[in-house]
Amino acid sequence: MPTAVEAARPLTALSEEEAMFQAAVRQFAREQVGPRVREMDDAARFDPGLLRGIFEMGLMAIESPEEYGGQGGSFFQAALAVEELAAVDASAALVVDVQNTLVANAVLRWASDEQKRRYLPRLAADTVGAYALSEAGAGSDAFALATRATESGDEYALNGRKVWISNAHEAGLFLVFANINPEAGYRGITCFLVERGFPGFQVGKKEDKLGIRASSTCELILDNCRVPKSNVMGEPGKGYKIAIETLNEGRIGIGAQMIGIARGALDQARAYARERRQFGKAISEFQGVQFDLARMATDLEAARLLVYNAARLRDAGMPFTAEAAMAKYFASRVAETVASRAVEIFGGVGFTKDCPAEKFYRDSKIGAIYEGATNMQLLTIARQVLERK
Ligand SMILES: Cc1cc2nc3c(=O)[nH]c(=O)nc-3n(C[C@H](O)[C@H](O)[C@H](O)COP(=O)(O)OP(=O)(O)OC[C@H]3O[C@@H](n4cnc5c(N)ncnc54)[C@H](O)[C@@H]3O)c2cc1C
Repeated sequence: MPTAVEAARPLTALSEEEAMFQAAVRQFAREQVGPRVREMDDAARFDPGLLRGIFEMGLMAIESPEEYGGQGGSFFQAALAVEELAAVDASAALVVDVQNTLVANAVLRWASDEQKRRYLPRLAADTVGAYALSEAGAGSDAFALATRATESGDEYALNGRKVWISNAHEAGLFLVFANINPEAGYRGITCFLVERGFPGFQVGKKEDKLGIRASSTCELILDNCRVPKSNVMGEPGKGYKIAIETLNEGRIGIGAQMIGIARGALDQARAYARERRQFGKAISEFQGVQFDLARMATDLEAARLLVYNAARLRDAGMPFTAEAAMAKYFASRVAETVASRAVEIFGGVGFTKDCPAEKFYRDSKIGAIYEGATNMQLLTIARQVLERK
């Protein structure tokens, strides 16, 4: 007999396994990530020791099966990990997010058995992955990409430049999208597994950013980069499908990152409101501040329900594209407004780098931009709304 909770299945009720996993990541985030946040943000550099710790915790291969060195967990668990890390540091969350929801996710679904055997154990053990779609002239219009791949013997030669590639500074494996047949338009786009050491491959300029500063964002230079044909992932010309379908899932991870940011900001603001005294009492005793905290908590809960629902739909094999777009769109807005209110609750202190709310606010901004800017999410949602009878 299922328990009442199992029968009702509230979205936020975790199974025993999920709850244990969440508690372990929360502890790791508090003990291992927390003390490094300020220094990593100031230096705009991800601590290599922390990266090793993240691998050792198994957080870089949450969904990968155990036979490849992974945890054999669910996509929902990956979202839980991203949320827990983002409540402390959104950059640490992004490293885990890209690895799980984009790179390993795509390899699990599209790579050949031989490619899985070659790359999944490395992605689980010590190799950071990156996802390279965007170019200077191809952002929202991603399929306008100009990187070309030309066949020569048992190799392809890749030529072009990618921009904005997360984790590129640390990464050893890159999923690179290039066009093998420009006349066929987007139907020429092909996905390549590119190792950092391949001849003609170079990581270029690193961006100096407003937020998620410890997460590296770099240009990639492909100058006659030689990629063996055995490193084409999926069918040639089907890269567009890999890109769309992976990003549909990936944006649930960004939603999770955004609810983590909102939670982190709310927790800090609540603690401060209880402690800060003005007019002879804690500011949490003023109804104006209480209502702020109430709105922040309500917005966060609504965003969490959207994110959890999208992740659970994905795990259940049910359609989730519109739900994922809604989750990312809404959660990114909530992260920004909650973090902004948190800055105000801290008053003058909130405007300084000594205050965690300041960083949550800066980090929140990226949610409305990457893995499809807000207008792109609205287009996806609108399409589904208009299709409904
Ligand atoms: C920190 C960071 C990390 C990133 N990481 C990665 C990564 O790992 N891999 C990767 O491939 N890419 C990555 N990106 C790229 C990111 O996905 C793109 O920046 C994003 O898709 C937007 O593209 P764009 O910057 O060219 O903006 P544009 O496409 O030029 O958009 C500019 C504005 O125009 C609006 N707009 C564009 N087209 C339309 C339209 N049809 N209707 C209405 N409005 C429209 C947009 O909503 C936006 O507000 C990253 C970006 C950043 C900033």
